[in-house]
Amino acid sequence: MMKPLLLFLILLPLTAGALVIYPEIYTSETLKNKYEKYSFRVLIVPGHDDETKNGAVYRGLLEADLNVKLAQELKRFLETDPRFQVILTRDENGYQPYLVDLFQEGRSEVTEFRDRVKKVHRELVGGGLLKDTEAPVAHVSVSSEDSIKLYGINYWVGRNSVDLVLHVHFNDYPGRLRAFPGKYTGFAIYTPDRQLPNGRASGELAKSIFERLKKYFTVSDFPKESTGIIEDPDLIALGASGSLYNPALLIEYGYIYETQFIDVDVRPMAVQELAYQTFLGIKKYLDPNDDSVESSILPYIWRNGVGIGLRADPDIFALQLALMAEEVYGCGPTGNFFNCTHRGVIALQKKYGISPTGFVGPKTLELLNSLY
Ligand SMILES: [Zn+2]
Repeated sequence: MMKPLLLFLILLPLTAGALVIYPEIYTSETLKNKYEKYSFRVLIVPGHDDETKNGAVYRGLLEADLNVKLAQELKRFLETDPRFQVILTRDENGYQPYLVDLFQEGRSEVTEFRDRVKKVHRELVGGGLLKDTEAPVAHVSVSSEDSIKLYGINYWVGRNSVDLVLHVHFNDYPGRLRAFPGKYTGFAIYTPDRQLPNGRASGELAKSIFERLKKYFTVSDFPKESTGIIEDPDLIALGASGSLYNPALLIEYGYIYETQFIDVDVRPMAVQELAYQTFLGIKKYLDPNDDSVESSILPYIWRNGVGIGLRADPDIFALQLALMAEEVYGCGPTGNFFNCTHRGVIALQKKYGISPTGFVGPKTLELLNSLY
């Protein structure tokens, strides 16, 4: 590890003139230290906004709005721990006033910042000091308005001692027929390219959140996201061109058309649990001895029997979380009871010596209520 760094330091003044080296300011030690001192600042950025309207949409559900809901839940959970200070970039009423100012009056400051970091990064790549890594997944290109906002947030972060930036999104993919649900499901976490100043700490934190989310939710089955954690050098949100030194993650919590987000009875549970597991992932990264409860939904009290064909049901959503935790079910919580849940219930019944009917009757209800 030492050798490349030394080489870097020696080469830099020779080849790159007045360039600034990318120091790694945020390591897991600095982050844990901030947390212990009750001064860990998290900035949550609900992706997109109502002005640019470029987020995913499905049957009247706007990603920009759903992102705010999840961000607010995450803020609520983080604030149960006084060691976190949490800021949202925007809520239902729009961006924080100081960000609005920055996007408007501060526009030239932001463009200067953007052009400066890009120039430095280009020169580092041109000088062979950094590799020109290609993004693994093609993203919707960012408009100049969004570019100002995203670089603006990074600019603001650099001046306001934020320790972690979390971008909240729900996914979609090009080519889906607008009126129909698409073929992919599941979550994915994007992290900065490892060459960037915030690459390492972000990657470590991503692993901790990934472990929590995958306990109850399924990883994206979009082929390029199937590893669950994807390094991306081009996302401004993550500090492309070295525009962020702080750890940053962009989480795609699932595909916008998935039934657990569309059904209004199930959506609050899905959003809450996704936020809770993210919170837990952050907390466990900062404090390995953390002993918070495993889930925000479980334990749950089941009262009614459920079986195949039922849909959009909170009891089924909770049942599926329990089946995920028991590792007898791999289809994720949807709120719908179809074949996959049926098989999961049979596996649960076999595991605990109940006759495998695939129907949640009195005995299975009793089992579920005793386990969770
Ligand atoms: Zn998005």
